[in-house]
Amino acid sequence: MEDSKSEPSITLGSPAASIAGIGNLRAQLLQRLNLRTAGDMLFFFPRDYEFPAPPCRIDQLKEGVEASLIGTIADVELRSSSPTRSILGAVLENETGAIRIVFFNQPFRAEQLTYGRKLMIQGTPKVSGMGLQMSHPKITYLDKTDGEIETPRILPIYPLTEGMKQHEIRRIIQLVIEPLADDLPEVLPTELRDLATQRLRAAEFSLQLPLLEINQAIKQIHWPDDKDHLKAARMRFVFQELLVMQLALATRRKSLQDSMQSVSMETSNLLDTRIINRFPFELTDDQRSAMRQISEDMSRKYPMNRLLQGDVGSGKTVVAIYGMMLAVGNKQQAALMAPTEVLARQHYETLTRMLADSRVTIGLLCGSLSAKERRDTLAAVAGGEVDLIVGTQSLLHGIEFANLGLCVIDEQHKFGVGQRGSFRSGGVDPHYLVMSATPIPRSVAMTVFGDTELTTLREKPPGRGTVKTYLGRGQWTQRWWGFVKQRLDEGRQAYVVAPRVASSSDSDEDEDVSSVLTVFKELSQKQFADYSVALLHGKMPNDEKQRVMESFADGEIDLLVTTTVIEVGIDVPNATVMTIMSAERFGLAQLHQLRGRISRSSHTGHVCVFTSGEQNPDEIERLKTFETVHDGFELAEADFKLRGPGDVLGWRQSGMPAMRIADIVEDIDVLQVARQIAQDIIDQDPKLESESYQSLRKQMMRRYASTLNVGDVT
Ligand code: ADP
Ligand code: MG
Repeated sequence: MEDSKSEPSITLGSPAASIAGIGNLRAQLLQRLNLRTAGDMLFFFPRDYEFPAPPCRIDQLKEGVEASLIGTIADVELRSSSPTRSILGAVLENETGAIRIVFFNQPFRAEQLTYGRKLMIQGTPKVSGMGLQMSHPKITYLDKTDGEIETPRILPIYPLTEGMKQHEIRRIIQLVIEPLADDLPEVLPTELRDLATQRLRAAEFSLQLPLLEINQAIKQIHWPDDKDHLKAARMRFVFQELLVMQLALATRRKSLQDSMQSVSMETSNLLDTRIINRFPFELTDDQRSAMRQISEDMSRKYPMNRLLQGDVGSGKTVVAIYGMMLAVGNKQQAALMAPTEVLARQHYETLTRMLADSRVTIGLLCGSLSAKERRDTLAAVAGGEVDLIVGTQSLLHGIEFANLGLCVIDEQHKFGVGQRGSFRSGGVDPHYLVMSATPIPRSVAMTVFGDTELTTLREKPPGRGTVKTYLGRGQWTQRWWGFVKQRLDEGRQAYVVAPRVASSSDSDEDEDVSSVLTVFKELSQKQFADYSVALLHGKMPNDEKQRVMESFADGEIDLLVTTTVIEVGIDVPNATVMTIMSAERFGLAQLHQLRGRISRSSHTGHVCVFTSGEQNPDEIERLKTFETVHDGFELAEADFKLRGPGDVLGWRQSGMPAMRIADIVEDIDVLQVARQIAQDIIDQDPKLESESYQSLRKQMMRRYASTLNVGDVT
C-alpha cells in the first residue's frame, strides 16, 4: 500500500468495537447510551460543561480559599492501619511549588494517583503540620492533553451509564474526534451560517464569534477553547437542528396551501359593518384586529388555519361569531364545536339571541336529542337548510355538510400537528379557527403549532371585575366560609371546586384529596345548611347537569359544589366567589381557567385555594405564583417551564422528534431566527432543489418525513 497510515482509518460508520482503544466490553456499555458507531459518538454532545477556576500558583495559595491547581504527582504513599482504615498521601508539584493531598479510606486511589501522572485538582487548602494540604480534592486527569495546556480547559460532561466513568467517556469520544472532524461534510452552506449569525446578532444575541463551520464546531462542542468558541459551536448545532425542523414545518405549510382548496370569501365593508352592528357593545381593538386577520385569511383560496388565544373572558367567542357570519354572508355553512354539551348549549343560546331577528338558521347537535330530532337535524345540515350548526366535537365529526365554509373549534387545549382535514366536503376544505384559553408559549406556537397562524387577544373587554386570589393557610377555613356567607348574603353566588367526584376507598395516599361528594355533604349540612347548595359533576346524567347549570344561572342556587366541569366557558356573572379544594391537584393554567369563571361581572371576584394537608415547599411556591400572577400568559410560561414541553401542550402526542441539543424554551430567539430563515428558503425554493440545500433536505426527510408528512417532496 502506498498510503502509509499506521492506524486503520475510522469512518463515521465504524462500529465502536472496531476502534482501537475501545474494545468489546466498552462497546457494550456505549451501546446502552445508543452509541453504536463512530458517527454516533462524534455527535454525542456533552450535556453540560465544567468551567474550572483559573489555576493558582501553589506559592500563592491561601488557607480556606478554594482553588484549582495543575501539576504532576511526585510522591505517593498509602498507609493502612486496618483493612478498612487507610490514609493515602500524595504530593502534587509544578514549577510554583508542591502541596500535599490526602484521601482517607480510599485505598483504590493509589492506583490512580501514580507517580508522574498529570492532573488538575480543586479543593480548599488547610494548614496541617508544616504547610498547606488539601484533603479529598476533586480530580481531573489530564493525561490525554499531553501536558500542553497551562490553563485548565472547559471540560465536557457527558451523559453516563453504569460502569462508565466521566474520564473514560471523555477519552473514548476523543478517539473519534481527531480522525473524523476534519473530513465531515458541511450541511449548512456558508451564506446560511453568515445569515444566521447576522440575524442572531440583530436579535441582540451576544455572539462574539460567527456560527462555526462543522469541522470546527464539532471539535469545539466537545473540547471548547473558551466560552466564546463553545457558544459559537453550540449555536451552530442548535440553529441547524431548529432550522431543519422549521424547514419541515414550512414545507408542510406550503404543501397544505398548495394542495387544499377553500372557498374564497368576499369580505366587503358592507358585510363587515352589518356583522359588527349586531354586537351590543364596542369591540376592543384586539377583537377588531383579530377580525381583520380572519377576514383576510378567509378571502384566500386555501384554508385559514388560525389559533385564536386569549384569557378566559377576553371575547374570543365574539370573534368566532364574526367569522361564522362572514361564512353565512357568503352562503356557506359554519360549524362551532365545543368540548362539552353544556358549553355547546350555551353557544347555541348566545347565537340564537344574537341572531333572533335575522334569517340565519341555527341547529344544535348534542347527546340529549331524541333519535328523530337528531335525524332531522342531520338531514337539514346535509341539505343546506341550516346555516350555523353547534355541537360537541364528537358529534360533529363525520357528519355530512352541504357546504361547510368555516369550522370553529372552541377551547381546544390539546392538539398537535396533523389534526385537520376531516371536514372536507365536495373537494373543498373549510377554513379553520381554533380557540384556546390556555395560552400557548411562543416556543410551542412555533413548533408543535408550527403551521398555524396565531392571534392573541390580550386586552380585556371593559367592565371586567378583578379577581383577588388567596392561598388558604392553616386555620383559615372557618374564616373563609364566613367570608363566603357574607358575599352570598349580598346576593352573590359561589363555586366550590374539588378535583374528584368521590373519595377513593382503595388508595391510602390519596385519602386527603377532596371530593365533591364529601364536600357537598359537609357544606350543605353544616356551614351552609341555611343556603341553597347544589352538586355538579361529570358523572351526572346530562339532563340533570343541564338543570343544575340552569338554576345556578337563574340564581336559584347559592353555592355550587363542582368538579372542573365548570372549567370551560360557563358564564354566570353573578358568581363572584370561588373556593378550590386540593388545589395541588391542578395545573397553573387550569387554576387560572377556573378563576376566570368569577371575573365575569363588575363585582370584584374572590378565589381562595386550599391544599389537601401539608404540601412541600415547591408546591407552595407554585401556588404562590398563582396567587400573585394574574396574567394567563405569564402563568402558562411558568407552567411550561415547570412541567416541560412534553406535558404542557402535547409535544409527545404531536409525534415531534425529541430535540438533541436545542431547548425550545431556552433557545427561543434562535428558534425565531430559524423560523424566518426557513420560511424565506421555502418561499424561494419550495422543494429545496438547489444544490446547496441537498444535505439539509436529507436531514429534514430523515427526521420529519413520517411525522409531518413532508415525504412527498422528493
Ligand atoms: P371567551 O370566549 O374569550 O371566554 P367570550 O367571547 O365568551 O369570551 O366573552 C365573554 C363575555 O364578554 C361575553 O358575555 C361577551 O358577550 C362579553 N364581551 C365580549 N366582547 C366584549 C366587548 N368588546 N365589550 C363588552 N363585552 C364583551
Ligand atoms: Mg369561550
